[in-house]
Amino acid sequence: MKQIQAEGTSYIYFTKAEGIPEASVMSCKVEGIADLEALESLLKSNMDDMRFVLSKLLRPDILYFYVLHWDDDTDLNKLDERVLENSFTDEDFTNSVKTQLGRTKCFNCNWVGYTLVMRPAESYIGAPGLEQNKLALRYARHGFKNCPNCGGSLRQDVVKILKP
Ligand SMILES: [Zn+2]
Repeated sequence: MKQIQAEGTSYIYFTKAEGIPEASVMSCKVEGIADLEALESLLKSNMDDMRFVLSKLLRPDILYFYVLHWDDDTDLNKLDERVLENSFTDEDFTNSVKTQLGRTKCFNCNWVGYTLVMRPAESYIGAPGLEQNKLALRYARHGFKNCPNCGGSLRQDVVKILKP
């Protein structure tokens, strides 16, 4: 793991090889990670366009678990190397968005699956306006998913439906 600054905000970045963060990192409690042990295999087959990060919000003693998702075919194995070598740039993160991993249900057909969701008004500490920019970029590209079963709206900003 590596503490990085990208686009003005801070992350603790985990490479694919490093996998899932521990329950406590750098003397901080990690929150938002409950389901993850059961999800390990699911996550391993879905890492091409996503990486795990931890990020502080208001409390200094808590790190929140997020999944960064890219929609631009960035080679994240190469990004892992650049992060470890400290040779990445802000541009590497321009097309990434901070998401939460969870289960989404389709209210039309009752499909349920694991997804990455951009939460409303998710803040990027230290980078005011970044959240709105990222949301606008994804909207401009029609980057949100409908139900894979019936095509209906999932009523959330789902950016990725994880392969089972
Ligand atoms: Zn559906």
